[in-house]
Amino acid sequence: MRLNLVLIGPPGSGKGTQAIRLAERYKIPHISTGDILRAAVRAGSALGQKVSATMASGGLVSDELITDLVRERLAAADAHTGFILDGYPRTVVQAEALGEMLAGAPMLAILIAVESEEIVRRLGLRRVCGSCGITQSVSGPRPEPVEGPASGHAEGEAHIDPCPYCGGPLITRQDDNPETVRHRLATYAAFAEPVINYYTGRGVLARIDGLKQPTAVTVDLVAQIDAFARSGMSG
Ligand code: AMP
Repeated sequence: MRLNLVLIGPPGSGKGTQAIRLAERYKIPHISTGDILRAAVRAGSALGQKVSATMASGGLVSDELITDLVRERLAAADAHTGFILDGYPRTVVQAEALGEMLAGAPMLAILIAVESEEIVRRLGLRRVCGSCGITQSVSGPRPEPVEGPASGHAEGEAHIDPCPYCGGPLITRQDDNPETVRHRLATYAAFAEPVINYYTGRGVLARIDGLKQPTAVTVDLVAQIDAFARSGMSG
C-alpha cells in the first residue's frame, strides 16, 4: 500500500516517537521538519543560520521556506511509496501546498490530542541527544546545559546520564524552556485549529487520544491507518 500520512499534534504529543515506530512498520520515511531544521542549525548551514533565531523563539519559519524544503524531500526516491510527515503542514497555506504536491493522491491526517497541562509537564522532561539527535524523556528535572551556542559543560557541573542509544550528551532543546514552550503552545493553538478544520472538512482527519501510554497510542494509530488502507483510499 502507499501511505501518505500527516501527523498533527502539539509539541510534546509524542508524534515524533510515534512517527519513528510507524515508519519502521510501514517502511516509509519519517519526515520531521523540526528535525531537518535542527540538523541545519547544528551544521551551521545557510538554512540553519536563516532559521535559528525563529526556532529559538518558538515562532514559525516562513511557509515558503518550509514548503520548498518539504517539496524537495518528498521528491526523493524513498518517499515514492509514501511518507509520514511530522510537523508539516502547520498552517492552511502549507496544507494547500501539500495538496498540490500530492496532486490528488489520497492522504490521511491523524490528530494526536493532548491537553496543554500535560504538554508542559512532558516538555520539562524532554531531552535530545546532542550527538545522534534522538529525542527522549528523563524521569525527573535536573540541572543540565541547554542546546545552542552558549551550551557546554563547566568544570564541576552536575553529572548528566549519557544517551542510552549512542552515549552522547543529553541536552534540553533550546525551545523547550518554559517561556518558549508557552509561545510554542500559543502558536500551536492559533495555527493548528484551521489545519484541523481544513482536513476535517475534506473527510481525511482521524483523531486519537494522546494521553494514553505510548504503546496504546501506537495501537490506535495502526488501527486508524489499517482501516484507511482497507477502505481502499490509500491507492
Ligand atoms: P518541531 O520539532 O516540529 O516542534 O519544530 C521546531 C521548530 O521548527 C518550530 O517551533 C518552528 O520554529 C520550526 N518549524 C518546524 N516545522 C515547521 C513548519 N511546518 N512551519 C513553520 N515552522 C516550522
